[in-house]
Amino acid sequence: MDDVIIVGGSFAGLSAALQLGRARRRVTVLDTGLPRNRYAAHAHGLLGHDGKPPTQILAEGRAQLGRYPSVRLLDVAATALAGTRDAFTVTTAAGENLAARRLILSYGITDVFPDIEGFAQCWGRSVLHCPYCHGFEVADGRLGLLYSSPLSLHAMALLHDWSARLTLFTNGQDLPEAEHAKLARRGVAIVTGRVAGIDHRDGHLSSIRIEQGDPVPLDALFAHPRQRLAADLHGALGLDLTEGPLGELIAVGDDFQTSLPGVYAAGDLAHPMQSAHLALSRGSMAGVHCHQSLIV
Ligand SMILES: Cc1cc2nc3c(=O)[nH]c(=O)nc-3n(C[C@H](O)[C@H](O)[C@H](O)COP(=O)(O)OP(=O)(O)OC[C@H]3O[C@@H](n4cnc5c(N)ncnc54)[C@H](O)[C@@H]3O)c2cc1C
Repeated sequence: MDDVIIVGGSFAGLSAALQLGRARRRVTVLDTGLPRNRYAAHAHGLLGHDGKPPTQILAEGRAQLGRYPSVRLLDVAATALAGTRDAFTVTTAAGENLAARRLILSYGITDVFPDIEGFAQCWGRSVLHCPYCHGFEVADGRLGLLYSSPLSLHAMALLHDWSARLTLFTNGQDLPEAEHAKLARRGVAIVTGRVAGIDHRDGHLSSIRIEQGDPVPLDALFAHPRQRLAADLHGALGLDLTEGPLGELIAVGDDFQTSLPGVYAAGDLAHPMQSAHLALSRGSMAGVHCHQSLIV
């Protein structure tokens, strides 16, 4: 039996495995190789890795884990979870049943793209989710933001530090009058029509098409699609969920433990503020808390 099985071996899961491997605990990591930022050519904001392809950062992490004989990495999906503290079972897509005393869930979230032509092709290239991750590369360009919720107005305010040429696309949604005035005072152009599509070449956008009106030339568009948990493994364990700004997340306490004792969760699937560097640190903390729970 493993001490810990980690479901999802990307930034959060591999960091948890590193702490547990260094503590010489028996760990199995299951992963399907689909990190959320796989659409982006380069990851930014991770000290020591700034500007590297995400796949390279993860490959380096996996190679470093090779030093720890008690850590096993399996390229396979978990398909079901069951059990309670000290007696969990994980079923894999290969039909194996693995047993562990603790679980760490780090299988991330999936971005649910809006039904806008060209959006999916541009995602991670010129349709961007976070200025801290990709704003520097498009600074001083013609930047747009696709309104989806009041959170968008906070994001719009942030974008002033990356460019003075800003456009808010309300996509047919009504903004309070006070917000119009605030945006106008800040020099933000507002386009109120519904977005019909994104003109692009190989994912690099050139303009936003509006249902009625001329296309709006642009260099990059920021957007915050709804998201869902990347797998439904928590359901069978009956874990409490919490409503995040863009979708449901797994609820955890300060020690990263979920509502079921012995099950921990870390990374995008458990936190509303999401980035690879935060996933690294939270995964690491989940690994440490999980390890300490194993000491009798
Ligand atoms: C386009 C884009 C660009 C980004 N750029 C940056 C950036 O530059 N800098 C930055 O800090 N952040 C960036 N982010 C955010 C970053 O990608 C996430 O915060 C980070 O990947 C979260 O890590 P995680 O380990 O929680 O989840 P993920 O990285 O999403 O990993 C989840 C892992 O679980 C696996 N998995 C899923 N289901 C199963 C299952 N059933 N069984 C086994 N394994 C499973 C997946 O294959 C995946 O490997 C970006 C996000 C996007 C969308």
